Amino acid sequence: MERNSISEQEVCYTFLMRKIIIGNWKMNPVSLRDAEQLFGLIAKSVSSIKKTEIVICPPFLYLERLKKLSRKITLGAQDAFGKDVGPFTGEVSPLMLYNIGVRYVILGHSERRVLGETNALVNKKIKASLLAGLSPILCVGESLRDENHSYFNLIKVQLEECLAGISKNSISKIIIAYEPIWAISSTPDRKDATASDSLEMAIFIRKILTDKFGSDVRKVRIIYGGSVNEKDALEFLKHGGVDGLLPGRASLDATKFTEIVKICERLN
Ligand code: PEP
Repeated sequence: MERNSISEQEVCYTFLMRKIIIGNWKMNPVSLRDAEQLFGLIAKSVSSIKKTEIVICPPFLYLERLKKLSRKITLGAQDAFGKDVGPFTGEVSPLMLYNIGVRYVILGHSERRVLGETNALVNKKIKASLLAGLSPILCVGESLRDENHSYFNLIKVQLEECLAGISKNSISKIIIAYEPIWAISSTPDRKDATASDSLEMAIFIRKILTDKFGSDVRKVRIIYGGSVNEKDALEFLKHGGVDGLLPGRASLDATKFTEIVKICERLN
């Protein structure tokens, strides 16, 4: 494994891409009223942000309403089906999401993989999402770090299988979110990941992508998620080799989420 063959400078092409902060609300909050209130507070406090792209991924059924409340915040979904239309009870298609103004979609999140989602299924969802005009946020991450470093191979396989058949033209529309499961807030006995854990993996991910897609991967944003908050956001953004962050729990607190956005803005 040539972990250090790409430098920190090369891994973070800040001059080419706007940094991005993506809030994953997961299955929260429990009412549209609470969702509107949280979204409204965030929208108000980010009104002066110019250089940072802000995305919020609420539950499906709040998307259409929240879309009307802010132009500054882009909306993302937390999942999408692998086809646009048809007899698929209970599913929501990428085209439906696009048609109500959604532009991003989280795919392959560990909380969906644990329900049985495979790399092959994520691959189908990525392809359908790209066709519909959505930008996939592909989540990859290992559940533990073993001494033999076999987690690198797991990330490689996740990337290769989830991105199988994706064209060089499409790769720049995809964001890769490195989310080590052992650092996510809902993991029992979780541990904090460090900026150097993130940097090492960002370098590795960009190497895998470069081998597969060539130099166009300069335009691919790699972001970090896993209990990131307003206290460690600066460290991850400055030294984690990433182009943005994906806070979960912290995105449910308007003050914390806004502070993360402002930290990013000051660095941009
Ligand atoms: C997530 O699971 O996408 C996530 C980043 O969650 P948290 O920040 O709560 O760990």
